[in-house]
Amino acid sequence: MAQTKQFKAESKRLLDMMINSIYTHKEIFLREIISNASDAIDKLYFKSLTDTSVGMNKADFEINLAADKEARTLTISDNGIGMTEEELENNLGTIANSGSFAFKKDNDLGDDVDIIGQFGVGFYSTFMVAKEVTVITKAYGSDTAYKWVSNGVDGYTVEETEKPDGVGTTIILTMKDDTDDEKYSEFLDQTKLQSLVKKYSDYIRFPIKMELEKTHYEDADKEPTITKEVETLNSMTPVWKRNKNELTDDDYNNFYMEKFMDYEPPITHIHSKNEGIATYDALLYIPARAPFDYYSKDYEKGLQLYSSGVMIMEKCADLLPDWFSFVKGVVDSEDLSLNISRELLQHDRQLKIIAKNLEKSIKNELTKMLKNDREKYEKFYNVFGLQFKFGIYQSYGAANDTLKDLLMFKSSFEGKNVTLAEYVSRMKEDQKEIYYACGESAERIEKLPQLERFKDKGLEVLYLTADVDEFCVKVMMNYDGKAFKSISDTDIDLDTEEEKEAAKKLDEENKDMFDFMQKAISDKVKSVRLSKKLKSYPVCLSSDGAITIEMEKVLNAMPQNEGNKVKAEKALEINPEHPIFEKLKDLYENDRDKLTDYTKLLYSQALLIEGMSIEDPVEFANLVCGLMV
Ligand code: ADP
Repeated sequence: MAQTKQFKAESKRLLDMMINSIYTHKEIFLREIISNASDAIDKLYFKSLTDTSVGMNKADFEINLAADKEARTLTISDNGIGMTEEELENNLGTIANSGSFAFKKDNDLGDDVDIIGQFGVGFYSTFMVAKEVTVITKAYGSDTAYKWVSNGVDGYTVEETEKPDGVGTTIILTMKDDTDDEKYSEFLDQTKLQSLVKKYSDYIRFPIKMELEKTHYEDADKEPTITKEVETLNSMTPVWKRNKNELTDDDYNNFYMEKFMDYEPPITHIHSKNEGIATYDALLYIPARAPFDYYSKDYEKGLQLYSSGVMIMEKCADLLPDWFSFVKGVVDSEDLSLNISRELLQHDRQLKIIAKNLEKSIKNELTKMLKNDREKYEKFYNVFGLQFKFGIYQSYGAANDTLKDLLMFKSSFEGKNVTLAEYVSRMKEDQKEIYYACGESAERIEKLPQLERFKDKGLEVLYLTADVDEFCVKVMMNYDGKAFKSISDTDIDLDTEEEKEAAKKLDEENKDMFDFMQKAISDKVKSVRLSKKLKSYPVCLSSDGAITIEMEKVLNAMPQNEGNKVKAEKALEINPEHPIFEKLKDLYENDRDKLTDYTKLLYSQALLIEGMSIEDPVEFANLVCGLMV
């Protein structure tokens, strides 16, 4: 009987941790074992290229799976390079040099087991599902085979054995007994095994074969016949590794729909192959519709990350900036190690370079679409465009250069979507600023009193209808050197010199009346004055400070600002061309009490026009009624 040896202390700790990991993580054991087998085959295949005494061709290499439900065993064998006795000891007796584990030790994450689900820890993951693991291996060039056996808890034994099928490694997992929560016999089910290979190991370069039981229903009257056929479970060449000119749109779309479980084909795909500072293949997709949780915090962005055909991460968030979080796809790079942890990955230089490149190609693709297929772009923009505005705002403008030319707004010209470049290209000769108006919808903005004069003068105004819009343009500050300007800003100046002179005179003449009116609503506005913006409406509100009226609305609607309301500095502006102006002057001379009431009413009207609620509806109703009777 072979002597039982103990695992190194660190290995034991990791084993404990793994055995207690959550069930959904456990299935990755198969991926780990298959990857090891594939690596071992790679090594021998590589040798065979220069050493004819190996006596094998590429087609001879394979990985085999066999499940035996009665014995509760799953056997995974390969005809790779195998292990010597010493290698068995060093490789499977300790995992102290494994990448994931070194990370664990440095950071002391205690019982956090997520790392297992994400990256696996190689061979040891078998103990998540098996109560006993047997490894029979024969190294290339060795005459002796060895058998390693362990139950994961009490250490392991190594002894000499026979291995009639030659060089390579066979791993026999005896599955744990099923419990109420965890059904380990699932891993002996051929359908489950097929789907696990598809999910994690579809692109392993060597065939993964299994003898499958097939049921044939040839004749309705007879019992079905059952046959056994050996099948290759993996497709071996991933779509993204194939040549672009071999692939049709259907190939791309079907892969997308199958892989990302969408029933609609994507708007477009980006297939890129890169060699150089970073070597990788990427196949990215822009979906046609947003997932239901897209604009919620539950949505997780990320691309599937492969290292030489082996999936190492389902959603690698670091590959995508937030503003392109809608992109789906896969990235495959041989520069990344299989056992890299999520935290280490974040600092990986290669990954950063890849992420930068991907961002550029996504931007280029969208720019191209905007230029060549406007309709398609607008369709895309209606679904995901909001994300760009959040991107600019949340990055404090860092994403400006990437996104500014991808933005679109509705505008007062034809009510269509326009880009900022289009707006600037048709600005009036002496126009220095980009005008915008805020409101909850285009229809609402169309009714803003301030808009009339802009339309009259043929000035285009952008319609900012999303909550984030004004915050976005405030962060951008300008586009192409042209500042953004709200049509509600007080210092908006559309007048000629003569018009200005006349307005100034009128303002001075009525200064006392305006002061009186301001006192009547002094808790609400900082000033009452003549308007230079109005045409047919009697009044409007404008804001003086950094906080605009629209921002006041948005900020105060956020739950976190409850009890801490912000207030825009407002001015009540009166249209001197409206008949009400003469009436006010008359009241100032003859009935100041009434002027006070009129002022309050005009203020409330201005609030309503802006789409805000009036502060004291009862007083408003009484005042209106007072006028009526
Ligand atoms: P990793 O694969 O990350 O190195 P593992 O714990 O999975 O970590 O495996 C440890 C080592 O054991 C491998 O690096 C390899 O040298 C050896 N090994 C594992 N499985 C096989 C196999 N099927 N054939 C040959 N060597 C193997």
